[in-house]
Amino acid sequence: KKISKFEINLKSKIKRKKMAQILDGLKISNEIKQEIKAEVDKIKASGKRIPHLSAILVGNNGASKAYVNSKVKDCAEVGFESSLYKFPSTASEAELLEKIEELNNDPNVDGFIVQLPLPKQMDQEKIIMAINPRKDVDGFHPENFGRMALEMDTFLPATPFGILTLLERYNIETKGKHCVIIGRSRIVGRPMSILMGRKDFPGNSTVTLTHSYTPHIEEFTKNADIVITALGDPHFLKGEMIKDGAVVIDVGITRVEDNTEKGYHLAGDVDFDSCAEKASWITPVPGGVGPMTRAMLMKNTLLAYKHTIYKD
Ligand code: NAP
Repeated sequence: KKISKFEINLKSKIKRKKMAQILDGLKISNEIKQEIKAEVDKIKASGKRIPHLSAILVGNNGASKAYVNSKVKDCAEVGFESSLYKFPSTASEAELLEKIEELNNDPNVDGFIVQLPLPKQMDQEKIIMAINPRKDVDGFHPENFGRMALEMDTFLPATPFGILTLLERYNIETKGKHCVIIGRSRIVGRPMSILMGRKDFPGNSTVTLTHSYTPHIEEFTKNADIVITALGDPHFLKGEMIKDGAVVIDVGITRVEDNTEKGYHLAGDVDFDSCAEKASWITPVPGGVGPMTRAMLMKNTLLAYKHTIYKD
């Protein structure tokens, strides 16, 4: 039977109506924060010391300030104690190392973070190495990174931890799937590639880690069951680059200037509209990976408090 143009149009319209389901990071992160708060309430009721997260902020970077402030706010929300140490951008490496040593030795501080990036006069590696791995709730210390790679208990970096938790709570099958990751940063892409390939759930995927030297990236993404974008290039991943039914996770957050009162909006690495027509599951920006990242720092602080990772 010959199919009319009208029928073809109708069919494609119906097909187009099929939209991906949302991996709702805002909802899940709120659930996680409530779970943490319930534990803190119990700790308080028993009269014990409550968990305490400290943060070190160096300089005046607007985004860094906003990140640190939101961490302090999250602490208040879940009932943690928090403390913030601010240094001018001219501070010396020695001053920072001294504060780190103080926090390492403070029995009332369970975990702390040094907000990155640091000013040029500071050696980032040296600073991260100075943090006691037992208090490294960002999971950036090489000891914790190594433990992660060896599938030992560790503090997972907050963004990959958030993505794993999202996949877990939505019960997304990852076993035997092909996962393509775009971006190989130390804090997102590379740890994510290790975690998706681990022998656990979520994990057991076959992983391809792509980056700026990967030619014809669409040839990888088109064959992926799961695509995780962490490159920082707004709307990079288009619908035509993924296969039907793919799971799409968007880590990207880029400030794009516009004519709104704020002067900018946040854009992900995924072209949401075209990808949502083909994907089975997709994270929005904002409201996807971002809030999960914030919640997992709280989770890591609770794990540090309870000595779940390092038992003694
Ligand atoms: P990053 O350090 O900026 O590195 C970007 C990575 O993407 C690099 O590995 C780079 O390759 C790769 N890349 C850049 N352009 C590419 C292209 N056209 N094709 C393929 N690969 C490309 O990355 P990041 O710190 O992981 O941040 C990535 C994005 O995620 C940013 O938008 C950031 O704001 C956002 N982010 C969000 C959260 C959250 O909580 N949602 C957390 C952290 C970061 P090379 O290695 O070859 O240079």
